[in-house]
Amino acid sequence: MSKLYIPGPINVSAETFAAMSHPMIGHRGSEFEELYASVQPSLQQLAGTSRPAYLSTSSAWGVMEAALRNLCAKKVLTLCCGAFSDKWYDVALKLGLAADKIQVGWGEAISPESVRAKLGEGGYDVVTLIHNETSTGVMNDLAAIAAVVKAFPGVIFVVDSVSSFSAVPIAMDALGIDVLLAGVQKALALPPGLTIFFCSEAALERAKSQPNRGYYFDFIEFAKNAEKNNTPSTPAISLIFGLQYILGTIAAEGVSQRYARHAANNALIHAWGARHGFANFAPVGHQSVSLTCFAKPADFDQAAFIKTLKGKHGYIINGGYGKIKGLTFRISNMGNETAATMLQLIAAMDDVLA
Ligand SMILES: *Cc1c(COP(=O)(O)O)cnc(C)c1O
Repeated sequence: MSKLYIPGPINVSAETFAAMSHPMIGHRGSEFEELYASVQPSLQQLAGTSRPAYLSTSSAWGVMEAALRNLCAKKVLTLCCGAFSDKWYDVALKLGLAADKIQVGWGEAISPESVRAKLGEGGYDVVTLIHNETSTGVMNDLAAIAAVVKAFPGVIFVVDSVSSFSAVPIAMDALGIDVLLAGVQKALALPPGLTIFFCSEAALERAKSQPNRGYYFDFIEFAKNAEKNNTPSTPAISLIFGLQYILGTIAAEGVSQRYARHAANNALIHAWGARHGFANFAPVGHQSVSLTCFAKPADFDQAAFIKTLKGKHGYIINGGYGKIKGLTFRISNMGNETAATMLQLIAAMDDVLA
Protein backbone atom coordinates (compact mmCIF):
# COMPACT_ATOMS: atom_id res chain seq x y z
CA MET A 1 0.00 0.00 0.00
CA SER A 2 1.32 3.41 -0.86
CA LYS A 3 0.46 6.77 0.66
CA LEU A 4 0.12 10.07 -1.15
CA TYR A 5 2.17 13.09 -0.14
CA ILE A 6 1.57 14.85 -3.45
CA PRO A 7 -0.23 18.21 -3.26
CA GLY A 8 -3.54 16.79 -4.31
CA PRO A 9 -5.33 14.53 -4.38
CA ILE A 10 -4.04 13.68 -0.94
CA ASN A 11 -4.42 10.70 1.35
CA VAL A 12 -8.03 10.00 2.38
CA SER A 13 -8.60 8.33 5.75
CA ALA A 14 -10.46 5.04 6.19
CA GLU A 15 -12.91 6.87 8.48
CA THR A 16 -13.71 9.32 5.68
CA PHE A 17 -14.37 6.49 3.24
CA ALA A 18 -16.55 4.82 5.87
CA ALA A 19 -18.59 8.03 6.26
CA MET A 20 -18.98 8.18 2.49
CA SER A 21 -20.50 4.72 2.40
CA HIS A 22 -23.65 6.02 4.11
CA PRO A 23 -26.71 4.52 2.37
CA MET A 24 -27.79 6.62 -0.59
CA ILE A 25 -30.49 9.23 -0.06
CA GLY A 26 -32.57 11.23 -2.51
CA HIS A 27 -31.46 14.81 -2.94
CA ARG A 28 -34.95 16.32 -3.07
CA GLY A 29 -35.93 15.47 0.47
CA SER A 30 -35.49 16.55 4.06
CA GLU A 31 -32.62 14.16 4.72
CA PHE A 32 -30.50 15.82 2.06
CA GLU A 33 -31.56 19.30 3.16
CA GLU A 34 -30.40 18.48 6.67
CA LEU A 35 -27.09 17.18 5.32
CA TYR A 36 -26.63 20.34 3.24
CA ALA A 37 -27.52 22.60 6.16
CA SER A 38 -25.22 20.69 8.51
CA VAL A 39 -22.06 21.55 6.54
CA GLN A 40 -22.82 25.27 6.30
CA PRO A 41 -21.60 26.65 9.64
CA SER A 42 -18.15 25.04 9.49
CA LEU A 43 -17.62 25.95 5.85
CA GLN A 44 -18.61 29.54 6.60
CA GLN A 45 -16.24 29.60 9.54
CA LEU A 46 -13.35 28.32 7.41
CA ALA A 47 -14.11 30.92 4.73
CA GLY A 48 -14.72 33.78 7.14
CA THR A 49 -18.10 34.56 5.65
CA SER A 50 -21.78 34.75 6.45
CA ARG A 51 -22.59 33.87 2.84
CA PRO A 52 -23.94 30.38 2.06
CA ALA A 53 -21.59 27.68 0.78
CA TYR A 54 -22.52 26.26 -2.61
CA LEU A 55 -21.59 22.70 -3.48
CA SER A 56 -20.62 22.05 -7.08
CA THR A 57 -20.24 18.51 -8.35
CA SER A 58 -17.12 19.17 -10.36
CA SER A 59 -13.45 19.64 -9.87
CA ALA A 60 -12.28 23.16 -9.07
CA TRP A 61 -11.88 24.09 -12.72
CA GLY A 62 -15.63 23.82 -13.22
CA VAL A 63 -16.18 26.72 -10.83
CA MET A 64 -13.05 28.58 -11.97
CA GLU A 65 -14.35 28.61 -15.52
CA ALA A 66 -17.89 29.33 -14.32
CA ALA A 67 -16.71 32.36 -12.36
CA LEU A 68 -15.53 33.93 -15.62
CA ARG A 69 -18.75 33.06 -17.44
CA ASN A 70 -20.92 34.35 -14.62
CA LEU A 71 -19.01 37.51 -13.81
CA CYS A 72 -16.99 38.94 -16.67
CA ALA A 73 -18.92 41.47 -18.76
CA LYS A 74 -15.99 43.71 -19.73
CA LYS A 75 -12.48 42.41 -19.18
CA VAL A 76 -10.79 40.08 -16.70
CA LEU A 77 -7.38 40.59 -15.17
CA THR A 78 -5.75 37.29 -14.26
CA LEU A 79 -2.86 37.31 -11.81
CA CYS A 80 -0.43 34.68 -13.11
CA CYS A 81 2.42 33.13 -11.13
CA GLY A 82 2.37 29.40 -11.91
CA ALA A 83 0.59 26.56 -13.68
CA PHE A 84 -2.90 27.03 -12.25
CA SER A 85 -3.00 30.83 -12.34
CA ASP A 86 -1.49 30.93 -15.85
CA LYS A 87 -4.12 28.48 -17.02
CA TRP A 88 -6.91 30.72 -15.75
CA TYR A 89 -5.80 33.29 -18.33
CA ASP A 90 -5.91 30.63 -21.06
CA VAL A 91 -9.39 29.59 -19.93
CA ALA A 92 -10.57 33.20 -20.21
CA LEU A 93 -9.29 33.30 -23.80
CA LYS A 94 -10.93 29.95 -24.56
CA LEU A 95 -14.22 31.48 -23.40
CA GLY A 96 -13.69 34.31 -25.85
CA LEU A 97 -13.43 36.90 -23.10
CA ALA A 98 -11.37 40.05 -23.17
CA ALA A 99 -8.51 39.15 -20.85
CA ASP A 100 -5.29 40.64 -19.65
CA LYS A 101 -2.74 39.33 -17.21
CA ILE A 102 -0.02 40.24 -14.80
CA GLN A 103 2.64 37.60 -15.30
CA VAL A 104 5.47 37.01 -12.86
CA GLY A 105 8.02 34.24 -13.03
CA TRP A 106 7.18 30.84 -11.56
CA GLY A 107 8.38 30.90 -7.98
CA GLU A 108 7.57 34.60 -7.56
CA ALA A 109 4.56 36.13 -5.85
CA ILE A 110 2.14 38.70 -7.26
CA SER A 111 2.98 42.23 -6.16
CA PRO A 112 -0.05 44.18 -4.88
CA GLU A 113 1.41 47.37 -6.38
CA SER A 114 1.43 45.84 -9.84
CA VAL A 115 -2.27 45.03 -9.41
CA ARG A 116 -2.97 48.62 -8.38
CA ALA A 117 -1.15 49.95 -11.44
CA LYS A 118 -2.93 47.60 -13.84
CA LEU A 119 -6.41 48.17 -12.42
CA GLY A 120 -5.69 51.89 -12.55
CA GLU A 121 -5.61 51.63 -16.34
CA GLY A 122 -9.36 50.92 -16.12
CA GLY A 123 -11.71 48.69 -18.08
CA TYR A 124 -11.55 45.62 -15.83
CA ASP A 125 -14.54 44.12 -14.03
CA VAL A 126 -13.06 40.86 -12.69
CA VAL A 127 -9.73 39.92 -11.09
CA THR A 128 -8.69 36.31 -10.51
CA LEU A 129 -6.12 35.28 -7.93
CA ILE A 130 -4.80 31.91 -6.85
CA HIS A 131 -4.11 32.31 -3.16
CA ASN A 132 -1.78 29.34 -2.88
CA GLU A 133 -0.16 28.53 -6.26
CA THR A 134 0.17 24.80 -5.77
CA SER A 135 2.56 24.32 -8.69
CA THR A 136 5.28 26.54 -7.19
CA GLY A 137 4.50 26.53 -3.47
CA VAL A 138 4.00 30.30 -3.50
CA MET A 139 1.38 31.76 -1.20
CA ASN A 140 0.30 35.18 -2.39
CA ASP A 141 -0.45 38.03 -0.01
CA LEU A 142 -4.22 37.71 -0.12
CA ALA A 143 -4.96 40.54 2.32
CA ALA A 144 -2.74 43.07 0.52
CA ILE A 145 -4.06 42.18 -2.93
CA ALA A 146 -7.64 42.20 -1.65
CA ALA A 147 -7.13 45.70 -0.23
CA VAL A 148 -5.97 46.89 -3.65
CA VAL A 149 -8.89 45.32 -5.52
CA LYS A 150 -11.36 46.72 -2.97
CA ALA A 151 -10.26 50.23 -3.91
CA PHE A 152 -11.70 49.68 -7.41
CA PRO A 153 -15.50 49.58 -7.13
CA GLY A 154 -17.21 47.38 -9.67
CA VAL A 155 -14.29 44.97 -9.88
CA ILE A 156 -15.29 41.46 -8.76
CA PHE A 157 -12.52 39.64 -6.90
CA VAL A 158 -12.38 35.88 -7.47
CA VAL A 159 -10.06 33.84 -5.26
CA ASP A 160 -9.03 30.21 -5.67
CA SER A 161 -8.14 28.82 -2.26
CA VAL A 162 -8.02 25.21 -3.46
CA SER A 163 -4.83 24.33 -1.60
CA SER A 164 -5.15 26.81 1.27
CA PHE A 165 -8.76 26.39 2.40
CA SER A 166 -8.79 25.00 5.95
CA ALA A 167 -4.97 25.14 6.12
CA VAL A 168 -4.83 28.88 6.85
CA PRO A 169 -7.51 31.32 8.01
CA ILE A 170 -9.35 33.10 5.21
CA ALA A 171 -11.47 36.18 5.85
CA MET A 172 -13.73 36.40 2.81
CA ASP A 173 -16.12 39.05 4.12
CA ALA A 174 -13.53 41.20 5.87
CA LEU A 175 -11.27 41.22 2.82
CA GLY A 176 -14.09 41.86 0.37
CA ILE A 177 -13.57 38.67 -1.62
CA ASP A 178 -16.49 38.21 -4.03
CA VAL A 179 -16.03 34.57 -4.98
CA LEU A 180 -14.05 32.06 -2.96
CA LEU A 181 -13.66 28.50 -4.19
CA ALA A 182 -11.94 25.32 -3.08
CA GLY A 183 -11.86 21.77 -4.41
CA VAL A 184 -12.14 19.14 -1.66
CA GLN A 185 -9.30 16.84 -2.76
CA LYS A 186 -6.58 19.16 -1.48
CA ALA A 187 -6.54 20.52 2.05
CA LEU A 188 -9.86 18.92 3.04
CA ALA A 189 -8.55 15.40 2.35
CA LEU A 190 -11.60 14.11 0.50
CA PRO A 191 -11.67 12.20 -2.78
CA PRO A 192 -11.95 14.51 -5.82
CA GLY A 193 -15.26 15.50 -7.39
CA LEU A 194 -16.68 18.31 -5.28
CA THR A 195 -15.96 22.03 -5.15
CA ILE A 196 -17.14 24.40 -2.46
CA PHE A 197 -17.71 28.02 -3.35
CA PHE A 198 -19.17 31.23 -1.94
CA CYS A 199 -20.47 34.34 -3.72
CA SER A 200 -20.88 37.86 -2.38
CA GLU A 201 -24.11 39.73 -3.08
CA ALA A 202 -22.19 41.86 -5.59
CA ALA A 203 -21.09 38.73 -7.44
CA LEU A 204 -24.68 37.48 -7.65
CA GLU A 205 -25.86 40.91 -8.82
CA ARG A 206 -23.30 40.80 -11.60
CA ALA A 207 -24.21 37.24 -12.53
CA LYS A 208 -27.89 38.14 -12.86
CA SER A 209 -27.16 40.51 -15.71
CA GLN A 210 -24.82 38.14 -17.52
CA PRO A 211 -26.18 36.37 -20.59
CA ASN A 212 -25.03 32.88 -21.54
CA ARG A 213 -24.35 31.64 -18.03
CA GLY A 214 -25.54 28.21 -19.06
CA TYR A 215 -27.30 26.00 -16.53
CA TYR A 216 -24.95 23.57 -14.78
CA PHE A 217 -22.66 26.28 -13.41
CA ASP A 218 -25.15 29.14 -13.18
CA PHE A 219 -24.37 30.93 -9.91
CA ILE A 220 -27.98 32.18 -9.70
CA GLU A 221 -29.24 28.58 -9.80
CA PHE A 222 -26.86 27.72 -6.96
CA ALA A 223 -28.08 30.71 -4.94
CA LYS A 224 -31.77 29.89 -5.50
CA ASN A 225 -31.34 26.26 -4.55
CA ALA A 226 -29.18 27.06 -1.53
CA GLU A 227 -32.13 28.94 -0.05
CA LYS A 228 -33.81 25.53 0.19
CA ASN A 229 -30.60 23.78 1.28
CA ASN A 230 -30.23 22.17 -2.07
CA THR A 231 -28.24 22.10 -5.30
CA PRO A 232 -29.36 22.74 -8.91
CA SER A 233 -28.65 19.18 -10.07
CA THR A 234 -27.99 15.85 -8.38
CA PRO A 235 -24.90 16.38 -6.25
CA ALA A 236 -22.12 13.97 -5.29
CA ILE A 237 -24.06 12.95 -2.18
CA SER A 238 -21.42 10.49 -0.93
CA LEU A 239 -18.79 13.22 -1.04
CA ILE A 240 -21.05 15.50 0.97
CA PHE A 241 -21.34 12.78 3.63
CA GLY A 242 -17.54 12.66 3.60
CA LEU A 243 -17.41 16.44 3.88
CA GLN A 244 -19.78 16.36 6.85
CA TYR A 245 -17.46 13.86 8.53
CA ILE A 246 -14.30 15.88 7.84
CA LEU A 247 -15.89 19.09 9.10
CA GLY A 248 -16.77 17.23 12.29
CA THR A 249 -13.11 16.32 12.76
CA ILE A 250 -12.12 19.94 12.12
CA ALA A 251 -14.59 21.15 14.75
CA ALA A 252 -13.33 18.54 17.22
CA GLU A 253 -9.72 19.57 16.65
CA GLY A 254 -10.51 23.30 16.63
CA VAL A 255 -9.68 25.48 13.64
CA SER A 256 -6.82 27.34 15.25
CA GLN A 257 -5.25 24.04 16.30
CA ARG A 258 -5.69 22.85 12.73
CA TYR A 259 -3.93 25.92 11.35
CA ALA A 260 -1.13 25.52 13.90
CA ARG A 261 -0.75 21.83 13.03
CA HIS A 262 -0.36 22.66 9.33
CA ALA A 263 2.25 25.31 10.10
CA ALA A 264 4.18 22.94 12.40
CA ASN A 265 4.06 20.05 9.90
CA ASN A 266 5.19 22.37 7.12
CA ALA A 267 8.08 23.59 9.28
CA LEU A 268 9.22 19.97 9.73
CA ILE A 269 9.56 19.62 5.95
CA HIS A 270 11.36 22.96 5.65
CA ALA A 271 13.81 21.87 8.34
CA TRP A 272 14.33 18.54 6.58
CA GLY A 273 15.07 20.37 3.32
CA ALA A 274 17.50 22.72 5.03
CA ARG A 275 19.34 19.73 6.55
CA HIS A 276 19.88 18.29 3.09
CA GLY A 277 20.62 21.54 1.28
CA PHE A 278 17.35 21.70 -0.63
CA ALA A 279 16.32 25.30 -1.27
CA ASN A 280 12.71 26.35 -1.17
CA PHE A 281 11.48 27.29 -4.66
CA ALA A 282 9.24 30.01 -3.17
CA PRO A 283 10.77 33.13 -1.63
CA VAL A 284 10.78 33.72 2.12
CA GLY A 285 7.59 35.49 3.13
CA HIS A 286 5.58 33.85 0.33
CA GLN A 287 5.98 30.18 1.17
CA SER A 288 2.92 27.99 1.32
CA VAL A 289 2.17 26.28 4.63
CA SER A 290 0.21 23.42 3.07
CA LEU A 291 2.93 22.14 0.77
CA THR A 292 6.60 22.69 0.08
CA CYS A 293 8.17 23.04 -3.35
CA PHE A 294 11.93 22.45 -3.40
CA ALA A 295 14.28 23.37 -6.23
CA LYS A 296 16.23 20.36 -7.50
CA PRO A 297 19.96 20.80 -6.90
CA ALA A 298 21.95 20.35 -10.14
CA ASP A 299 23.67 17.16 -9.00
CA PHE A 300 20.63 15.55 -7.38
CA ASP A 301 18.98 12.53 -9.02
CA GLN A 302 15.45 13.59 -8.15
CA ALA A 303 13.78 10.92 -10.29
CA ALA A 304 15.67 8.12 -8.52
CA PHE A 305 14.91 9.64 -5.11
CA ILE A 306 11.17 9.76 -5.82
CA LYS A 307 11.18 6.27 -7.32
CA THR A 308 13.05 4.68 -4.42
CA LEU A 309 10.91 6.48 -1.85
CA LYS A 310 7.85 4.95 -3.44
CA GLY A 311 9.33 1.51 -4.12
CA LYS A 312 11.01 1.01 -0.76
CA HIS A 313 8.69 2.94 1.57
CA GLY A 314 5.44 3.40 -0.34
CA TYR A 315 5.45 7.18 -0.01
CA ILE A 316 4.59 9.19 -3.11
CA ILE A 317 5.82 12.75 -3.51
CA ASN A 318 5.59 14.85 -6.67
CA GLY A 319 8.37 15.54 -9.15
CA GLY A 320 7.23 18.97 -10.29
CA TYR A 321 4.31 20.30 -12.31
CA GLY A 322 4.05 21.89 -15.73
CA LYS A 323 7.19 23.54 -17.02
CA ILE A 324 9.07 22.97 -13.75
CA LYS A 325 8.52 19.20 -13.82
CA GLY A 326 11.85 17.52 -13.14
CA LEU A 327 13.30 20.80 -11.84
CA THR A 328 11.40 20.87 -8.56
CA PHE A 329 9.77 18.40 -6.21
CA ARG A 330 6.78 18.95 -3.95
CA ILE A 331 5.68 17.49 -0.65
CA SER A 332 2.19 18.03 0.77
CA ASN A 333 1.40 18.36 4.45
CA MET A 334 -2.30 19.00 3.90
CA GLY A 335 -5.23 17.28 5.50
CA ASN A 336 -4.96 14.82 8.35
CA GLU A 337 -1.17 14.61 8.63
CA THR A 338 0.28 14.77 12.12
CA ALA A 339 3.80 15.40 13.36
CA ALA A 340 4.12 11.63 13.73
CA THR A 341 3.13 10.86 10.13
CA MET A 342 5.33 13.66 8.78
CA LEU A 343 8.25 12.28 10.79
CA GLN A 344 7.63 8.83 9.29
CA LEU A 345 7.88 10.37 5.83
CA ILE A 346 11.00 12.26 6.85
CA ALA A 347 12.62 9.11 8.21
CA ALA A 348 11.87 7.35 4.94
CA MET A 349 13.30 10.22 2.88
CA ASP A 350 16.42 10.29 5.07
CA ASP A 351 16.80 6.55 4.55
CA VAL A 352 16.63 6.97 0.76
CA LEU A 353 19.17 9.79 0.85
CA ALA A 354 21.58 7.93 3.16
C1 LIG B 1 -5.47 21.44 -7.91
C2 LIG B 1 -5.70 22.88 -8.15
C3 LIG B 1 -6.62 23.35 -9.08
C4 LIG B 1 -7.34 22.45 -10.05
O1 LIG B 1 -8.22 21.65 -9.42
P1 LIG B 1 -9.03 20.53 -10.23
O2 LIG B 1 -9.69 19.90 -9.09
O3 LIG B 1 -8.04 19.68 -10.94
O4 LIG B 1 -9.95 21.20 -11.15
C5 LIG B 1 -6.85 24.69 -9.17
N1 LIG B 1 -6.20 25.55 -8.39
C6 LIG B 1 -5.30 25.16 -7.50
C7 LIG B 1 -4.59 26.17 -6.66
C8 LIG B 1 -5.01 23.81 -7.34
O5 LIG B 1 -4.11 23.42 -6.44
